[in-house]
Amino acid sequence: ANQVFEDAKWIIEALENHGHHAYFVGGSVRDYLMDKHISDVDITTSALPEEVESIFDKTLPIGKEHGTIIVLGSGQQFEVTTFRKDGDYVDHRRPTSVQFVTDLYEDVARRDFTMNAIAMDKSYQLHDYFNGLKDINNKIIKAVGTPIDRMEEDALRIMRGVRFQAQTGFNIDDETKEAMSQSAHLLDKIAIERIVVELKEMISGNYVYHIIQTMKDMAIFKYIPFFKNINLETIFIPQHSNFELWIASLCYIYHLELSSLNHLKISNKEKHEIISYYNLFNEFENRNISKVEMTSMIYNYGNNKVNKVIQFIYENNQSLNIQFHPTIMNTILVNEIYDKLPIYDKSDLSINGQIIMNEFNKNGGPWIKDILNKVEQAVILNKVNNTQNELIEWVRENVEI
Ligand code: ATP
Ligand code: MG
Repeated sequence: ANQVFEDAKWIIEALENHGHHAYFVGGSVRDYLMDKHISDVDITTSALPEEVESIFDKTLPIGKEHGTIIVLGSGQQFEVTTFRKDGDYVDHRRPTSVQFVTDLYEDVARRDFTMNAIAMDKSYQLHDYFNGLKDINNKIIKAVGTPIDRMEEDALRIMRGVRFQAQTGFNIDDETKEAMSQSAHLLDKIAIERIVVELKEMISGNYVYHIIQTMKDMAIFKYIPFFKNINLETIFIPQHSNFELWIASLCYIYHLELSSLNHLKISNKEKHEIISYYNLFNEFENRNISKVEMTSMIYNYGNNKVNKVIQFIYENNQSLNIQFHPTIMNTILVNEIYDKLPIYDKSDLSINGQIIMNEFNKNGGPWIKDILNKVEQAVILNKVNNTQNELIEWVRENVEI
């Protein structure tokens, strides 16, 4: 028995008490059989969405038209989806319609990979029509049904396959692999946002080095904007990374224009994070960094980002070809410098524009910003204490007004 399923069992029991069939299915069953941490539990049932809503007190009709109702209980939420088969696919991404069915078989037959198509009842009995368990034991990712049809129906499955490879270290079955290459060109019909979701999971997978060969064999990245200008024979895949660092390193290594980030349609926050990492790569490039420079860098970017980049450079040193001063670059030192910073933001300064205007009897203007910047630098570098009197005195002595 597994606590995650025990906590969700009441849903299956309630559905069965009302005369329906219900099973655990998808990622949770796969992860359970692989002895991995189980994230969200999905339940598949013969009950129609309205019936699910009437059986449970607290529900949310999150994806009702596709058959999915969220059931809330014991402080958790569970996705309960009616058995369905997909209608025709017209745009290689979404079925034009879904059809609710009464048979578990039809529901699992529409799923992408055999390891994701295993249903399990409340007594942990498997309903494994496509030999998913055997493929898990043989460490194989294999499409359900005819691979080429399944990839052409929904090209996002290509990305999902690669992502699962990076997460599990499994091999992709030959025929499935062939189908993925053959339909890779359909990826340009898939919304980049969906692809990015898979890329994020892919690059943080524990077995991401497994996909390097896949990438070369399948040329998948040729069809994804942003990656189009990168030489896929030599594309850089870091270990233990995250999406933002990876993309920044690609921009840095391949001298990409930062405007090409727009192809990824990511949020401004993510874009700024990538640009910070990119700037840090450049700062570290081929030179020793003095403690003074290091201090400004840590003040400007924060210790977390600086540490991430340092660790990234250490782990991927050879591919990145950045040389840096061995003694000054380490996490302990970065954190020490960060902890000792006298201020963390301009607003921590003991003077402001108003105080400066009063003190020097002048009207506002760009000169104030200029003074504040100089004061900020001086304080960070410990040239002056952050008290109002000392700062004013420092300005009188060091800045021409
Ligand atoms: P994760 O653990 O990362 O959530 P998952 O397999 O649960 O992986 P989900 O996106 O949560 O992935 O989807 C749940 C299930 O729905 C899958 O296990 C699979 O059976 C099915 N599924 C999801 N996306 C597709 C798809 N594009 N084509 C076919 N079946 C899919
Ligand atoms: Mg899931």
